[in-house]
Amino acid sequence: MTEAVIANEQGFISRSLWNATANPSQDYPALVGEQECDVAVIGGGFAGLSAALHLAEAGVSVCLLEAETPGWGASGRNGGQVVPGLKEDPDEIERRFGSELGGRMVRLSGNAGYFVFDLIERLGIDCGASRAGWIQPIHSEAARTTVRKRFDQWQRRDAAMRMLDREETAALLGTDAYLGGMLDQRGGNLHPLNYALGLAEAAARAGARIHGHSRAERWEHEGGGVRIHTAKGQVRAGKVLVCTNGYADGFSGAIGRTVVPIRSIQVATEPLPAEIAASIFPQGHSASDTRRLLHYFRKGPGDCFVMGGRGDYSQGGTEHQFEVLRKASVRLYPRLAEARWVHHWGGYVAMTVSHYPQLLRMDDNVWAACGFNGRGVAMATALGKVIADAARGVPEAELDFPVTQVKPIPFYFMRRYAVAAAVAWARLRDGLGR
Ligand SMILES: Cc1cc2nc3c(=O)[nH]c(=O)nc-3n(C[C@H](O)[C@H](O)[C@H](O)COP(=O)(O)OP(=O)(O)OC[C@H]3O[C@@H](n4cnc5c(N)ncnc54)[C@H](O)[C@@H]3O)c2cc1C
Repeated sequence: MTEAVIANEQGFISRSLWNATANPSQDYPALVGEQECDVAVIGGGFAGLSAALHLAEAGVSVCLLEAETPGWGASGRNGGQVVPGLKEDPDEIERRFGSELGGRMVRLSGNAGYFVFDLIERLGIDCGASRAGWIQPIHSEAARTTVRKRFDQWQRRDAAMRMLDREETAALLGTDAYLGGMLDQRGGNLHPLNYALGLAEAAARAGARIHGHSRAERWEHEGGGVRIHTAKGQVRAGKVLVCTNGYADGFSGAIGRTVVPIRSIQVATEPLPAEIAASIFPQGHSASDTRRLLHYFRKGPGDCFVMGGRGDYSQGGTEHQFEVLRKASVRLYPRLAEARWVHHWGGYVAMTVSHYPQLLRMDDNVWAACGFNGRGVAMATALGKVIADAARGVPEAELDFPVTQVKPIPFYFMRRYAVAAAVAWARLRDGLGR
């Protein structure tokens, strides 16, 4: 990332709801001098923090380097919606990966929300976690067929879900804008930055050495391990886990070129009057709708309203896109017409061509977890544990997710045009109700 990109990202953070309502955090000093550890983790988002936590708890000596502060990347900025499952539905996953591995992937991803909530409970993380469930409201007849198919497949696997008719969807959301919905009771929502800060504290308590303001600049193989250089120090590690996701820079090299960072943005109101707040998500659910360019929305701390959607990929810029989100919110909830919008922020979601997250192996020493396709609250936490297991020596065949080689996306330099074209195509299809 260039200095200008980092400055822009800092600007977003200063306008973020999560930053304004964050718990006080301990300081994580920069790495100075030389250190040794079994495993070095690069990147302090959910994936890196979960990996560091699980390694430290298993008695492995671990050192985590974060370029800024824990939770600075997507993990501290997202919608905080805990969404179980992968983009593809269970039958498709099992067809693609076979019933044995595919079955394990389905269980891992289906239970990823439980994994997060159980971790929060076990570690006593104060992040407003709500297990109310996640709703996928349906915007078109074609989407209803897709969601019904998804629901039937999970039903056969005894997942805690149910279909909602139009009236119940309207009652749980507080808007009658949707045709119906699916309630996934395995999901919920939380304060993402406080969750990341809580994971960092727990990892440090378990013995992980966490260094903020320590951008990993380069690495080289040395002996049987790897030496990593920061501006003021070096870490010598047996293994390295690269967890830089949509914020990958030159250090991540080819690993970064396996994902496409896509801007997603959010807006939030000031705390709503009690009577309006009580009419929106009265039972504490959150929702991401079925559009390709989806809207995701919920209430946040102090009963404010939070709406998220895609960043800008045409003329108009991000400020224009914030206005698009504010208008979309008022269309769904006319009671928000007079609300004051006081927070505006965004960050990079890392997408993969396959829509699957990736566990990558560069060589015997260097691994990566990335590409959570907008579902990283649950999946980055879950795969952080899986990659920690890999680093501890659990054989690949026993992991609940496949490990693949690093294969950068061809013509990566064209990605901006490809994303703009994909967004225009998705907008057209959403407009046609497909
Ligand atoms: C606006 C937005 C809304 C979203 N909403 C949701 C949602 O509601 N639900 C959901 O499940 N997912 C959501 N996501 C996706 C989710 O936030 C991500 O999938 C998840 O946070 C990824 O975690 P991570 O640890 O892989 O990466 P990140 O949290 O991005 O962490 C990567 C870290 O690596 C650090 N880094 C990069 N290079 C280096 C280096 N060289 N040295 C040291 N450190 C480095 C960065 O500073 C960064 O902190 C959203 C994302 C965004 C941006």
